Amino acid sequence: MTDLPFTDVASHVERTYTITALSTTVVPSTSMPPVSTTVVPSTSMPPVSTTVVPSTSPSSSRTRKREDFLEWPEYFMAVAFLSAQRSKDPNSQVGACIVNQENKIVGIGYNGMPNGCDDDLLPWSRTADDQLDTKYPYVCHAELNAIMNKNSADVKGCTMYVALFPCNECAKLVIQAGIKEVVYLSDKYHDTPGMTASRRLLNMAGVQFRQFKPKRTEIVIDFNSINITGTRSSSCQ
Ligand SMILES: [Zn+2]
Repeated sequence: MTDLPFTDVASHVERTYTITALSTTVVPSTSMPPVSTTVVPSTSMPPVSTTVVPSTSPSSSRTRKREDFLEWPEYFMAVAFLSAQRSKDPNSQVGACIVNQENKIVGIGYNGMPNGCDDDLLPWSRTADDQLDTKYPYVCHAELNAIMNKNSADVKGCTMYVALFPCNECAKLVIQAGIKEVVYLSDKYHDTPGMTASRRLLNMAGVQFRQFKPKRTEIVIDFNSINITGTRSSSCQ
């Protein structure tokens, strides 16, 4: 919690990120940037007319809307995964994104130490002889932070997108906050007592939960794409 947001932005800019849906790891791509699809006219061609003639070709990629845009669930889960990359936890990076019934994001969070508590001093270990030397008594889960970070009066009736099925402590928070649906990606701790208790609580409280099945396994964020895609235009978007 001691670093400034700008530090991260500066250190990450110009990298290509791959958000892999089946893990919480964002891997900087080592591949070259995508090849531009912009067609450069040959120098032997006549001067370009200043009159814009709309293409009548049905195959034109510029006259119809994109088909591979992110659908809402993919988008919200991707926001959760991107948020997870803010986590300092060396073993587990989890993000959560709360969405209201108008598909507006009203809260985002990731796992981390409480505000004002130095995450360089608190332990990040999963195991230790003394439990006080593990992260567990201290760390705030993504769900807690997403709820506490809400930018609306409340999150009643909202849906939470979260990378991991919520633990029993987070299930309590979800229920008490009035969240009505949980969409999770991984359920890798399904057989633990905590997750069993979580399901029991969510079921009793009538909170729906369902696993998100991504159509694609990864989403690439390429900061350079804004410079190499699209056509030249007098407007900015
Ligand atoms: Zn939890």
